[in-house]
Amino acid sequence: MEHIDPEMLALIALGEPVATSEVERHLDACDECADDLAGLRRAALAGRATLDAGDLERPREVVWERISAELALGTTAGPAAPAPEPSRSATRRRSVGRRRSGRNWGLAAVALLVAGASLGTWAWTRSTAPIEVAQASLAAFPDHPGAEGTAVVEENPDGSRFVRVEVSADAAPDTYREVWLIAPDASELVSLGVLDDDTGTLTVPAGVDLARFPLVDVSQEPVDGDPDHSGDSIVRGELSFS
Ligand SMILES: [Zn+2]
Repeated sequence: MEHIDPEMLALIALGEPVATSEVERHLDACDECADDLAGLRRAALAGRATLDAGDLERPREVVWERISAELALGTTAGPAAPAPEPSRSATRRRSVGRRRSGRNWGLAAVALLVAGASLGTWAWTRSTAPIEVAQASLAAFPDHPGAEGTAVVEENPDGSRFVRVEVSADAAPDTYREVWLIAPDASELVSLGVLDDDTGTLTVPAGVDLARFPLVDVSQEPVDGDPDHSGDSIVRGELSFS
């Protein structure tokens, strides 16, 4: 077996249960890989806890190369390698003192990589999560006693919006439910679409100003081909903005 893959070492250092028995046997037998793992463990600890990790060890060249590639650094960007290396054998002949000069940097980069990956995932999750911008409680009209509902408007990071609507009401045969945004004086309205039984997630068209159409209305529509509001509202409520 060759030396353990640097990414595998990094995962083991982070405490991931990825080591096969073959890998564990290699770690027992190979001082080089065991040293690298010890260094990575300290770096991971430093990256996680921002503690002083003490005497950080520089990993093998190949580990640094992988880190450089991962961080998209140039070959000369590694602090331990101020001049490009003519060849591998030349690298091996380099003095120990020179190799040591970059030790902390090599594993500091691993720690940054580890911390950066976690932070990146976190930031990505946050930046892609929609945020709630408005909500309404929907109250029953007299023809639909006991009906109720909610509407929540959420906005994606790109500015697109959608509304989640839930209605609890007795279903009437041969009808469907349509969601509308209505102006306060009911003089204008925008259809958002049709509910799938009691619920729906519907796009709010770009350019629709919710302040101009703050009423969320769910109507009961006969299957008559008429695109207008039937006049038979089940529930309605006014949006409050977060
Ligand atoms: Zn090894």
